[in-house]
Amino acid sequence: MSFQIECPNCGLRPVWEFSYGGASRKRPEGDITERQWAEYLYNRANICGEQVESWYHRSACKTWFLAHRDTRTNQVFETRPIVPQEAAGG
Ligand SMILES: [Zn+2]
Repeated sequence: MSFQIECPNCGLRPVWEFSYGGASRKRPEGDITERQWAEYLYNRANICGEQVESWYHRSACKTWFLAHRDTRTNQVFETRPIVPQEAAGG
């Protein structure tokens, strides 16, 4: 299904210009085990519905940003620049 995403720098563009970075998650902090790292890196919730995701505009500004999208309909509600502590980490 084709849809459009509004890059915070470039404006509304077709989805094929972007790379999907996965659902945005908070990076674990502190002294965590290898098992906890593995959970964070490889186990995704695969949400059916609204989630905040990381996207990369590979065809133009080469910038990562966050998009609030419904995975069922591909409706994009909002996009905004990413700040370092919000990085998807994977
Ligand atoms: Zn862009």
